[in-house]
Amino acid sequence: MRVAGVILLAAVSACTAPAGERAGAASPGDVAAAARARMVAQQIAARGVTDPAVLRAMRTVPRHEFVPAKLRDDAYADRPLPIGHGQTISQPYVVALMTELAGVKPGDRVLEIGTGSGYQAAVLAELGAQVRSIEIVAPLAQGAAETLRRLGYDRVQVRHGDGYRGWPEAAPFDAIVVTAAPPEVPAALVAQLAPGGRLVIPVGTGEQELRLLVRTPSGIETRRSVPVRFVPMVGGP
Ligand code: SAH
Repeated sequence: MRVAGVILLAAVSACTAPAGERAGAASPGDVAAAARARMVAQQIAARGVTDPAVLRAMRTVPRHEFVPAKLRDDAYADRPLPIGHGQTISQPYVVALMTELAGVKPGDRVLEIGTGSGYQAAVLAELGAQVRSIEIVAPLAQGAAETLRRLGYDRVQVRHGDGYRGWPEAAPFDAIVVTAAPPEVPAALVAQLAPGGRLVIPVGTGEQELRLLVRTPSGIETRRSVPVRFVPMVGGP
């Protein structure tokens, strides 16, 4: 199935006439949409992500546009992929899980630390959030900003810098999603949470755990979640 899709994508990109105009041929968009539907059913819903808005966003964002061209055929596989500079785009399930934990509603102000490819930022924007994202590797920040602009994700602002400090001028945030692992939760990020705000963050060195911190009327509540493995958060307070 996947091999057929790969051949079709390659063949179509070499043609002048769009495949959809030829009777009976699936367009590249249809092939990718079918791959996303399978990804959501088999990798994400099957592992317990239930939020319909998150599942819809994961079915919508063209993940293959966020991976290096030579890895496009693997874009919907059940694993992280290298995006250059020693960094990775997270496994689809992990993106969906973090997005669900972030509890994003339309109009929310959301901060992401670790833009990478821009994929997680696009998923957050697809939920109707105003997204700001910080990336410490300049070429990744620039590449992600270009991809997001090309795909029409105008609700995402990317900044090159060190996410340890957060984005104080734009705080407070309804949700903060951190996609690189610091050894401890950065205090500046907790400080930039709005009342009811949620911080989703992998914490630890080597073995990490994905934590959800919520700012409640009685203070910060921490709920531990699943073991995960992210690239380390570099830079520092
Ligand atoms: N969310 C990304 C995947 C991120 S991989 C995506 O959807 O593709 C983690 C990213 O965090 C890497 O790009 C890495 O360069 C970045 N990073 C690491 N430490 C950082 C820091 N202190 N501030 C901002 N970005 C950081």
